Amino acid sequence: MPPPWLKPLEVDRLAGTEADVDFAIPLAELPGLRSLRDGVTGSVSGSVHFAREQGLAIAEIAVRGTVTLECQRCVKPMQLPLETVARVVLIGSEAEAGRVPADLEPVLAEGGRISIGELITEELLLMLPIVPLHADGSPCAAEPEPAAHGGASETHQPFARLDELLKR
Ligand SMILES: [Zn+2]
Repeated sequence: MPPPWLKPLEVDRLAGTEADVDFAIPLAELPGLRSLRDGVTGSVSGSVHFAREQGLAIAEIAVRGTVTLECQRCVKPMQLPLETVARVVLIGSEAEAGRVPADLEPVLAEGGRISIGELITEELLLMLPIVPLHADGSPCAAEPEPAAHGGASETHQPFARLDELLKR
């Protein structure tokens, strides 16, 4: 049986009943996240509260957990503790984005349906760094050349260079 967070849910019904949905998701099993953030593992849990405000379907997402990403400098795992609350507006089509107030993030629920997994993926893509790097002061930050490790593969070089460009 597929996990409950993969099941598409009807936004209208959830918002109308002010539903609360708890979740616990292993990140390696989120296809959308895995395809955009190489080597992401860890897990998150939390709850989503649905509501309707001024004709808009709102989702309040409370998420916590630890995300493991690959540091683009030393190519070793890097743990990112996560604890956040976000409010998004669920829209049924791109055309509805114009009705969303500027201070709220629209998330597309195609045809009025979205799974908790898709919702969390959207949220994580906004929160996680595009170029994850160990913080200053960690052993890897002291090493100027990523290649010095000998483990850095070709595919990581563009990211390392991007990091250098951003520091200028
Ligand atoms: Zn590192």
